[in-house]
Amino acid sequence: MTAEPTPSAPVETRLRDLTTTSSPVEFVARVVTFERREVTRKSDGNRRPLVSGLLSDGTATVRFTWWDPPREGIERGTVLRAVGAEVREFRGRPEVTFTWKTRVAPASPAELPRVDAEEIPFRTVQDLRPADEGFRIEVRVVRIAPKSVTVGTERRVVHEGVLADRTGSIALSSWSDFGLKVGEAVRMAGGYVRSFRGRPSLVLDERSSVVRVEGADLPDPAELLRSPPRSIAEVEDEGGGETVAVEGVVVGLLPPSGLVFRCPTCHRSVRSGICRIHGQVEGQADLRARIVLDDGTGALTVNASRADTERLWGVTLDEARARLRNQPDPSLLEEEMLETLLGRRLRVRGVGTKDDFGVTLTPESIERVEIDLEAAAEELAARLGERS
Ligand SMILES: [Zn+2]
Repeated sequence: MTAEPTPSAPVETRLRDLTTTSSPVEFVARVVTFERREVTRKSDGNRRPLVSGLLSDGTATVRFTWWDPPREGIERGTVLRAVGAEVREFRGRPEVTFTWKTRVAPASPAELPRVDAEEIPFRTVQDLRPADEGFRIEVRVVRIAPKSVTVGTERRVVHEGVLADRTGSIALSSWSDFGLKVGEAVRMAGGYVRSFRGRPSLVLDERSSVVRVEGADLPDPAELLRSPPRSIAEVEDEGGGETVAVEGVVVGLLPPSGLVFRCPTCHRSVRSGICRIHGQVEGQADLRARIVLDDGTGALTVNASRADTERLWGVTLDEARARLRNQPDPSLLEEEMLETLLGRRLRVRGVGTKDDFGVTLTPESIERVEIDLEAAAEELAARLGERS
Protein backbone atom coordinates (compact mmCIF):
# COMPACT_ATOMS: atom_id res chain seq x y z
CA MET A 1 0.00 0.00 0.00
CA THR A 2 1.61 3.21 -1.14
CA ALA A 3 -1.45 5.46 -1.04
CA GLU A 4 -1.77 7.65 2.06
CA PRO A 5 -5.04 7.05 3.90
CA THR A 6 -7.49 9.85 3.33
CA PRO A 7 -8.13 11.87 6.52
CA SER A 8 -11.58 10.37 7.05
CA ALA A 9 -10.54 6.73 6.47
CA PRO A 10 -10.23 4.80 9.73
CA VAL A 11 -6.69 3.80 10.62
CA GLU A 12 -6.09 0.30 11.96
CA THR A 13 -4.98 0.57 15.53
CA ARG A 14 -4.25 -1.57 18.56
CA LEU A 15 -6.56 -1.20 21.54
CA ARG A 16 -3.64 -0.16 23.71
CA ASP A 17 -3.07 2.87 21.44
CA LEU A 18 -6.67 4.14 21.49
CA THR A 19 -7.00 7.78 22.44
CA THR A 20 -10.20 9.70 22.87
CA THR A 21 -9.06 12.34 20.41
CA SER A 22 -8.81 9.85 17.55
CA SER A 23 -11.33 9.97 14.75
CA PRO A 24 -13.19 6.70 13.94
CA VAL A 25 -10.83 3.74 14.14
CA GLU A 26 -10.44 0.25 12.72
CA PHE A 27 -9.31 -2.71 14.80
CA VAL A 28 -9.50 -6.49 15.19
CA ALA A 29 -10.42 -7.81 18.65
CA ARG A 30 -11.92 -10.75 20.47
CA VAL A 31 -15.20 -10.58 22.42
CA VAL A 32 -14.27 -11.37 26.03
CA THR A 33 -17.68 -10.77 27.63
CA PHE A 34 -20.96 -9.44 26.31
CA GLU A 35 -24.50 -8.76 27.40
CA ARG A 36 -27.63 -7.93 25.37
CA ARG A 37 -29.92 -5.18 26.62
CA GLU A 38 -32.55 -2.74 25.43
CA VAL A 39 -32.71 0.91 26.33
CA THR A 40 -35.60 3.30 25.93
CA ARG A 41 -34.89 6.19 23.61
CA LYS A 42 -35.80 9.51 25.19
CA SER A 43 -36.95 11.17 21.94
CA ASP A 44 -39.75 8.73 21.01
CA GLY A 45 -39.87 6.19 23.85
CA ASN A 46 -38.91 3.32 21.47
CA ARG A 47 -36.85 0.41 22.74
CA ARG A 48 -33.45 0.12 21.13
CA PRO A 49 -31.30 -3.04 21.40
CA LEU A 50 -27.63 -2.91 22.29
CA VAL A 51 -24.80 -5.24 23.19
CA SER A 52 -22.10 -4.18 25.61
CA GLY A 53 -19.12 -5.91 27.15
CA LEU A 54 -15.36 -6.22 26.84
CA LEU A 55 -13.13 -6.57 23.81
CA SER A 56 -9.47 -7.49 23.79
CA ASP A 57 -6.80 -7.71 21.11
CA GLY A 58 -3.97 -8.94 23.31
CA THR A 59 -2.63 -5.42 23.94
CA ALA A 60 -5.50 -4.09 26.06
CA THR A 61 -9.06 -4.78 27.12
CA VAL A 62 -11.71 -2.09 26.52
CA ARG A 63 -15.43 -1.75 27.07
CA PHE A 64 -17.60 -1.65 23.96
CA THR A 65 -21.16 -0.70 23.13
CA TRP A 66 -22.82 -1.93 19.93
CA TRP A 67 -26.06 -0.21 18.93
CA ASP A 68 -28.60 -2.24 16.94
CA PRO A 69 -26.41 -5.37 16.86
CA PRO A 70 -27.26 -8.47 14.77
CA ARG A 71 -29.51 -10.95 16.55
CA GLU A 72 -26.98 -13.76 16.23
CA GLY A 73 -23.30 -14.35 15.63
CA ILE A 74 -21.90 -12.66 18.74
CA GLU A 75 -20.41 -15.05 21.24
CA ARG A 76 -17.67 -15.01 23.78
CA GLY A 77 -14.46 -15.65 21.86
CA THR A 78 -15.76 -14.27 18.53
CA VAL A 79 -13.00 -12.35 16.71
CA LEU A 80 -14.30 -9.37 14.77
CA ARG A 81 -13.01 -6.52 12.65
CA ALA A 82 -14.67 -3.13 13.27
CA VAL A 83 -14.19 -0.36 10.75
CA GLY A 84 -15.26 3.14 11.75
CA ALA A 85 -15.78 2.61 15.48
CA GLU A 86 -15.99 5.70 17.68
CA VAL A 87 -13.73 6.17 20.67
CA ARG A 88 -15.10 7.76 23.83
CA GLU A 89 -13.80 8.14 27.31
CA PHE A 90 -15.48 6.93 30.46
CA ARG A 91 -13.89 7.48 33.88
CA GLY A 92 -10.56 8.21 32.23
CA ARG A 93 -10.48 5.04 30.11
CA PRO A 94 -11.16 4.78 26.38
CA GLU A 95 -14.24 2.84 25.25
CA VAL A 96 -15.45 2.04 21.74
CA THR A 97 -18.93 2.41 20.27
CA PHE A 98 -20.28 0.72 17.14
CA THR A 99 -22.92 2.90 15.46
CA TRP A 100 -24.84 2.57 12.17
CA LYS A 101 -21.70 3.96 10.51
CA THR A 102 -19.47 1.15 11.84
CA ARG A 103 -18.90 -1.92 9.68
CA VAL A 104 -18.43 -5.00 11.85
CA ALA A 105 -17.46 -8.35 10.30
CA PRO A 106 -16.10 -11.67 11.56
CA ALA A 107 -12.33 -11.97 11.43
CA SER A 108 -9.79 -14.73 11.98
CA PRO A 109 -7.61 -14.93 15.13
CA ALA A 110 -4.62 -14.64 12.74
CA GLU A 111 -5.68 -11.03 12.01
CA LEU A 112 -5.28 -10.02 15.66
CA PRO A 113 -2.26 -7.74 16.14
CA ARG A 114 1.12 -9.40 16.56
CA VAL A 115 2.25 -8.58 20.02
CA ASP A 116 5.95 -8.48 20.76
CA ALA A 117 6.32 -10.45 23.99
CA GLU A 118 9.02 -8.05 25.21
CA GLU A 119 6.50 -5.19 25.44
CA ILE A 120 4.03 -6.96 27.70
CA PRO A 121 4.10 -6.42 31.46
CA PHE A 122 4.88 -9.28 33.87
CA ARG A 123 2.15 -10.32 36.29
CA THR A 124 2.01 -12.77 39.17
CA VAL A 125 -0.53 -15.58 39.41
CA GLN A 126 -2.37 -14.03 42.36
CA ASP A 127 -2.92 -10.81 40.36
CA LEU A 128 -4.72 -12.55 37.48
CA ARG A 129 -8.43 -11.83 37.19
CA PRO A 130 -11.09 -13.08 34.75
CA ALA A 131 -10.99 -11.15 31.41
CA ASP A 132 -7.31 -10.18 31.87
CA GLU A 133 -5.20 -10.28 28.72
CA GLY A 134 -1.93 -8.73 27.60
CA PHE A 135 0.42 -10.01 30.32
CA ARG A 136 3.39 -12.34 30.73
CA ILE A 137 3.81 -14.83 33.54
CA GLU A 138 6.63 -17.11 34.65
CA VAL A 139 5.32 -20.29 36.16
CA ARG A 140 6.10 -23.89 36.98
CA VAL A 141 3.96 -26.62 35.37
CA VAL A 142 2.50 -28.54 38.32
CA ARG A 143 0.10 -30.78 36.38
CA ILE A 144 -0.65 -31.27 32.70
CA ALA A 145 -2.74 -33.83 30.81
CA PRO A 146 -4.49 -33.91 27.42
CA LYS A 147 -8.27 -34.25 27.39
CA SER A 148 -10.55 -34.85 24.42
CA VAL A 149 -13.59 -32.56 24.32
CA THR A 150 -16.43 -31.81 21.92
CA VAL A 151 -16.65 -28.19 20.76
CA GLY A 152 -19.81 -27.76 18.70
CA THR A 153 -19.58 -30.76 16.35
CA GLU A 154 -15.80 -31.02 16.48
CA ARG A 155 -13.59 -33.25 18.65
CA ARG A 156 -10.65 -31.28 19.97
CA VAL A 157 -7.83 -31.87 22.42
CA VAL A 158 -7.37 -29.43 25.27
CA HIS A 159 -4.28 -29.66 27.48
CA GLU A 160 -5.47 -29.10 31.03
CA GLY A 161 -3.28 -28.54 34.03
CA VAL A 162 -2.13 -26.35 36.87
CA LEU A 163 0.56 -23.66 36.88
CA ALA A 164 2.13 -22.02 39.91
CA ASP A 165 4.51 -19.28 40.95
CA ARG A 166 5.44 -18.11 44.45
CA THR A 167 2.16 -16.19 44.81
CA GLY A 168 -0.28 -19.00 43.98
CA SER A 169 -1.55 -21.49 41.45
CA ILE A 170 -3.97 -21.27 38.52
CA ALA A 171 -5.72 -23.77 36.25
CA LEU A 172 -4.61 -23.98 32.61
CA SER A 173 -6.55 -24.85 29.44
CA SER A 174 -4.38 -24.84 26.34
CA TRP A 175 -5.97 -25.37 22.90
CA SER A 176 -2.52 -25.65 21.40
CA ASP A 177 0.00 -28.36 22.25
CA PHE A 178 3.11 -26.66 23.62
CA GLY A 179 4.55 -30.00 24.76
CA LEU A 180 4.36 -28.92 28.39
CA LYS A 181 5.80 -31.29 31.00
CA VAL A 182 5.36 -31.40 34.75
CA GLY A 183 8.17 -29.58 36.53
CA GLU A 184 9.11 -27.29 33.63
CA ALA A 185 9.56 -23.56 34.22
CA VAL A 186 8.02 -21.53 31.42
CA ARG A 187 7.32 -17.93 30.41
CA MET A 188 3.88 -17.56 28.84
CA ALA A 189 2.45 -14.66 26.85
CA GLY A 190 -0.64 -14.15 24.72
CA GLY A 191 -3.05 -15.96 27.03
CA TYR A 192 -6.24 -14.70 28.62
CA VAL A 193 -8.03 -15.41 31.87
CA ARG A 194 -11.58 -16.69 32.08
CA SER A 195 -13.67 -17.76 35.01
CA PHE A 196 -14.33 -21.49 35.18
CA ARG A 197 -16.37 -22.98 38.04
CA GLY A 198 -15.84 -19.78 39.98
CA ARG A 199 -12.01 -19.89 39.68
CA PRO A 200 -9.73 -18.00 37.29
CA SER A 201 -8.27 -20.20 34.57
CA LEU A 202 -5.55 -19.31 32.04
CA VAL A 203 -6.44 -20.04 28.41
CA LEU A 204 -3.76 -20.45 25.74
CA ASP A 205 -4.30 -20.90 22.01
CA GLU A 206 -2.27 -20.93 18.81
CA ARG A 207 -1.50 -17.21 19.23
CA SER A 208 0.10 -17.70 22.64
CA SER A 209 3.81 -18.17 23.17
CA VAL A 210 5.59 -20.46 25.61
CA VAL A 211 9.33 -20.25 26.28
CA ARG A 212 11.30 -22.52 28.65
CA VAL A 213 13.14 -20.56 31.35
CA GLU A 214 15.43 -21.39 34.22
CA GLY A 215 12.84 -20.47 36.85
CA ALA A 216 15.21 -20.48 39.81
CA ASP A 217 12.70 -18.65 42.04
CA LEU A 218 9.70 -20.75 41.07
CA PRO A 219 8.38 -23.29 43.57
CA ASP A 220 9.14 -26.93 42.93
CA PRO A 221 5.97 -28.97 42.20
CA ALA A 222 6.68 -31.47 44.98
CA GLU A 223 6.90 -28.57 47.43
CA LEU A 224 3.48 -27.32 46.32
CA LEU A 225 1.99 -30.76 46.69
CA ARG A 226 3.57 -31.10 50.16
CA SER A 227 2.30 -27.72 51.37
CA PRO A 228 0.83 -27.91 54.90
CA PRO A 229 -2.97 -28.08 55.28
CA ARG A 230 -4.87 -24.80 55.46
CA SER A 231 -8.08 -24.01 57.27
CA ILE A 232 -11.31 -24.90 55.47
CA ALA A 233 -12.59 -21.34 56.12
CA GLU A 234 -9.59 -19.97 54.20
CA VAL A 235 -10.13 -22.40 51.30
CA GLU A 236 -13.79 -21.37 51.19
CA ASP A 237 -12.91 -17.65 51.16
CA GLU A 238 -10.67 -18.22 48.16
CA GLY A 239 -13.35 -20.21 46.31
CA GLY A 240 -11.34 -23.45 46.34
CA GLY A 241 -7.99 -23.78 44.57
CA GLU A 242 -5.83 -25.93 42.35
CA THR A 243 -3.58 -27.35 45.09
CA VAL A 244 -5.76 -27.45 48.21
CA ALA A 245 -4.65 -29.34 51.32
CA VAL A 246 -6.94 -29.60 54.35
CA GLU A 247 -7.19 -31.74 57.43
CA GLY A 248 -10.42 -32.42 59.30
CA VAL A 249 -12.75 -34.93 60.87
CA VAL A 250 -15.43 -36.91 58.99
CA VAL A 251 -18.79 -35.64 60.28
CA GLY A 252 -21.11 -37.17 57.70
CA LEU A 253 -21.77 -38.54 54.22
CA LEU A 254 -23.86 -36.95 51.50
CA PRO A 255 -26.01 -38.93 49.07
CA PRO A 256 -25.27 -40.67 46.82
CA SER A 257 -22.63 -42.52 48.83
CA GLY A 258 -22.03 -46.26 48.96
CA LEU A 259 -22.96 -48.56 46.09
CA VAL A 260 -24.11 -46.53 43.09
CA PHE A 261 -24.94 -47.43 39.50
CA ARG A 262 -23.50 -45.38 36.66
CA CYS A 263 -24.43 -44.84 33.05
CA PRO A 264 -21.91 -46.78 30.88
CA THR A 265 -21.67 -43.80 28.48
CA CYS A 266 -21.43 -40.66 30.64
CA HIS A 267 -20.72 -42.16 34.11
CA ARG A 268 -23.49 -40.12 35.76
CA SER A 269 -25.27 -42.03 38.50
CA VAL A 270 -28.52 -43.57 37.28
CA ARG A 271 -31.76 -43.64 39.25
CA SER A 272 -34.13 -46.57 38.71
CA GLY A 273 -32.15 -47.52 35.61
CA ILE A 274 -32.56 -44.06 34.00
CA CYS A 275 -29.67 -41.73 33.06
CA ARG A 276 -30.88 -38.17 32.76
CA ILE A 277 -28.96 -37.79 29.49
CA HIS A 278 -29.10 -41.27 27.95
CA GLY A 279 -32.46 -42.58 29.22
CA GLN A 280 -32.80 -46.26 30.10
CA VAL A 281 -29.38 -47.85 30.52
CA GLU A 282 -27.76 -50.89 32.10
CA GLY A 283 -26.15 -49.24 35.13
CA GLN A 284 -22.61 -50.25 36.07
CA ALA A 285 -21.91 -50.73 39.77
CA ASP A 286 -19.47 -48.36 41.45
CA LEU A 287 -18.52 -47.37 44.98
CA ARG A 288 -18.20 -43.80 46.13
CA ALA A 289 -18.18 -41.69 49.24
CA ARG A 290 -19.13 -38.02 49.43
CA ILE A 291 -17.45 -37.24 52.71
CA VAL A 292 -18.25 -34.14 54.77
CA LEU A 293 -15.01 -33.03 56.40
CA ASP A 294 -15.00 -30.44 59.21
CA ASP A 295 -11.95 -28.80 60.76
CA GLY A 296 -13.70 -26.51 63.22
CA THR A 297 -13.47 -23.48 60.88
CA GLY A 298 -15.85 -24.89 58.27
CA ALA A 299 -16.84 -27.97 56.29
CA LEU A 300 -16.35 -29.17 52.73
CA THR A 301 -17.26 -32.21 50.65
CA VAL A 302 -14.64 -34.72 49.50
CA ASN A 303 -15.68 -36.80 46.48
CA ALA A 304 -13.83 -40.04 47.06
CA SER A 305 -13.30 -42.35 44.07
CA ARG A 306 -13.91 -46.10 44.13
CA ALA A 307 -10.28 -46.90 45.05
CA ASP A 308 -10.23 -44.34 47.89
CA THR A 309 -13.63 -45.48 49.15
CA GLU A 310 -12.60 -49.16 49.15
CA ARG A 311 -9.42 -48.31 51.06
CA LEU A 312 -11.13 -46.02 53.63
CA TRP A 313 -14.12 -48.28 54.19
CA GLY A 314 -12.21 -51.57 54.00
CA VAL A 315 -14.93 -53.07 51.80
CA THR A 316 -14.44 -53.72 48.08
CA LEU A 317 -17.02 -53.15 45.38
CA ASP A 318 -17.47 -56.92 44.96
CA GLU A 319 -17.99 -57.37 48.70
CA ALA A 320 -20.52 -54.52 48.73
CA ARG A 321 -22.45 -56.16 45.85
CA ALA A 322 -22.41 -59.50 47.70
CA ARG A 323 -23.80 -57.81 50.81
CA LEU A 324 -26.52 -56.17 48.75
CA ARG A 325 -27.64 -59.60 47.51
CA ASN A 326 -28.22 -60.70 51.12
CA GLN A 327 -29.63 -57.39 52.29
CA PRO A 328 -31.24 -55.63 49.35
CA ASP A 329 -31.38 -52.16 50.95
CA PRO A 330 -28.52 -49.94 49.71
CA SER A 331 -29.12 -47.37 52.48
CA LEU A 332 -27.90 -49.96 55.04
CA LEU A 333 -24.58 -50.11 53.16
CA GLU A 334 -24.32 -46.33 53.36
CA GLU A 335 -25.03 -46.47 57.10
CA GLU A 336 -22.34 -49.13 57.55
CA MET A 337 -19.88 -46.98 55.65
CA LEU A 338 -20.74 -43.93 57.75
CA GLU A 339 -20.21 -45.91 60.96
CA THR A 340 -16.71 -46.86 59.81
CA LEU A 341 -15.69 -43.36 58.69
CA LEU A 342 -17.38 -41.13 61.27
CA GLY A 343 -14.92 -39.27 63.48
CA ARG A 344 -11.85 -40.24 61.45
CA ARG A 345 -9.26 -37.56 60.89
CA LEU A 346 -8.26 -37.26 57.22
CA ARG A 347 -5.71 -35.15 55.37
CA VAL A 348 -6.91 -34.51 51.83
CA ARG A 349 -5.15 -32.86 48.88
CA GLY A 350 -6.72 -32.07 45.57
CA VAL A 351 -8.58 -29.56 43.44
CA GLY A 352 -11.25 -27.52 45.23
CA THR A 353 -14.20 -25.93 43.40
CA LYS A 354 -16.93 -23.83 44.97
CA ASP A 355 -20.62 -23.53 44.10
CA ASP A 356 -23.79 -22.62 46.01
CA PHE A 357 -23.37 -25.71 48.19
CA GLY A 358 -19.83 -24.82 49.25
CA VAL A 359 -16.44 -26.28 48.38
CA THR A 360 -16.07 -29.73 46.82
CA LEU A 361 -12.66 -31.37 46.78
CA THR A 362 -11.68 -33.82 44.03
CA PRO A 363 -8.90 -35.59 45.87
CA GLU A 364 -5.49 -36.59 44.59
CA SER A 365 -4.67 -38.15 47.90
CA ILE A 366 -6.55 -38.99 51.08
CA GLU A 367 -4.48 -39.98 54.10
CA ARG A 368 -5.76 -41.13 57.42
CA VAL A 369 -4.20 -39.18 60.29
CA GLU A 370 -4.01 -41.02 63.59
CA ILE A 371 -5.22 -38.79 66.38
CA ASP A 372 -2.43 -38.76 68.93
CA LEU A 373 -4.29 -38.12 72.16
CA GLU A 374 -1.13 -37.69 74.21
CA ALA A 375 0.30 -35.07 71.84
CA ALA A 376 -3.06 -33.29 71.71
CA ALA A 377 -3.15 -33.16 75.52
CA GLU A 378 0.42 -31.81 75.64
CA GLU A 379 -0.39 -29.16 73.06
CA LEU A 380 -3.43 -28.11 75.04
CA ALA A 381 -1.41 -27.95 78.25
CA ALA A 382 1.25 -25.85 76.51
CA ARG A 383 -1.37 -23.42 75.24
CA LEU A 384 -2.91 -23.10 78.68
CA GLY A 385 0.59 -22.54 80.09
CA GLU A 386 1.18 -19.68 77.65
CA ARG A 387 -1.90 -17.92 78.88
CA SER A 388 -1.15 -18.11 82.60
ZN1 LIG B 1 -25.59 -41.20 30.53
